[in-house]
Amino acid sequence: MARLTCYGGAGATTGANFLLEFGGKKILVDCGMLQGAGEAKTENAKKFSYDPKEVDFLFVTHAHIDHVGLIPKLYKEGFRGEIYSTAETKNIAKLLLLDAAKINADKETPLYGPEDVSACFAAWHELHYHEPKDFGGFTLELFNAGHVLGSAMLKFSTPRGKSMLFSGDIGNSPSPILPDVEKVIGLDYLLMESVYGDRNHESKSERDLKFEKAVSDGIKRGGTILIPAFSLERTQIILYELDNLFESGRLPAVPVFLDSPLAIRITEIYEKVKNLYNAVSEKDKREGDDIFKFPKLKETATVRDSREIAKVPGAKIIIAGSGMSSGGRILAHEEMFLPDPNSTIILAGYQAAGTLGRQIEEGVKEVVIDGSRVAVKAKMEIIHGFSAHADSDALVRFVEASAGTLKKVFVAMGEPKSAIFLAQRLRDELEVDAVVAEKGKVYELDL
Ligand SMILES: [Zn+2]
Repeated sequence: MARLTCYGGAGATTGANFLLEFGGKKILVDCGMLQGAGEAKTENAKKFSYDPKEVDFLFVTHAHIDHVGLIPKLYKEGFRGEIYSTAETKNIAKLLLLDAAKINADKETPLYGPEDVSACFAAWHELHYHEPKDFGGFTLELFNAGHVLGSAMLKFSTPRGKSMLFSGDIGNSPSPILPDVEKVIGLDYLLMESVYGDRNHESKSERDLKFEKAVSDGIKRGGTILIPAFSLERTQIILYELDNLFESGRLPAVPVFLDSPLAIRITEIYEKVKNLYNAVSEKDKREGDDIFKFPKLKETATVRDSREIAKVPGAKIIIAGSGMSSGGRILAHEEMFLPDPNSTIILAGYQAAGTLGRQIEEGVKEVVIDGSRVAVKAKMEIIHGFSAHADSDALVRFVEASAGTLKKVFVAMGEPKSAIFLAQRLRDELEVDAVVAEKGKVYELDL
């Protein structure tokens, strides 16, 4: 018998943290930070509900902070087991965790310091997709989740021929740069995400048209186009789309600033990898197109370069974090350009309640940035289709591949209404035993 306990990522989208116990081993999948306003801060600071010293392995699905953000804290509380992920997840996680430690350092009681981040990377090993590894008592194989670079679904198999898959986050295929989410068949158990369990996205072609029109109209007005963007995946997709639009002549060449040291470094990781793109972008690369670069792109790593951007006259595009305008360099640009009616702000991602991005999305006429009142006169464009998560229909199709063999599906990593809706769809449409994973509850599994 095996036991599964969801310590995080159950009843909430973020904070993924799952414990699987079998064959005398304690195995963690992901150790993420709970994000958002309110209780997240105190929850993240609490001691883990299990003893980190007893954990043998930590397997990581992908580098988003809600899947890796508490790994250094796990180390700080005594975890000395081995960590495994793809090389890309490891490399990107390192950048994101060092950045998180830096932001953390300003807090009264930091969750961890850069020394804890460095320490966990000494025990962090790399795995490749489709190269099953035997861990003595179980085998692990990684499948491509198509969500962000390096993202993997983890399939654990036992000597009894049983298996369980942890989906991590499931990508929104087709992605402009990543391969499609892989289908995994013959599973006994599945623990899956449900961020968009109750909604479908606009199609990719609709999204592309909307994005092109928003940028093109903004350029025609001659103002500044602000794009608050997450540094992992969203920024690279936007660079890729802009590269295509400029190269095909559908947009006139205007200066584009990538104003985020973190996004610049993550884009470098994207540029270095080989064989992890989909066929189209792989072909572009082979033919010599640097898919994230174009002549008028300027990376502004230093604060001084960042300040110079405001002096550039006429139409220009600024991509900066954070994606929800809750911090980062985008704030200074928003303070400067939101009052200008010729400016445009493109919201290309989910804006959580309580963030500045959400206020702008809701259409308020004035916001407060760094203590100053700032009028919002810029034109606002909202584009939802840039999500890196599969929508409700795609999630159902994903489960369908294994519907004949599945004993149970645990629906997790979504807001309760999303998770409940998806579990219901899985029961009704695929006749599988789908339950909404409950935090802290112990599930017995026949593995
Ligand atoms: Zn993710």
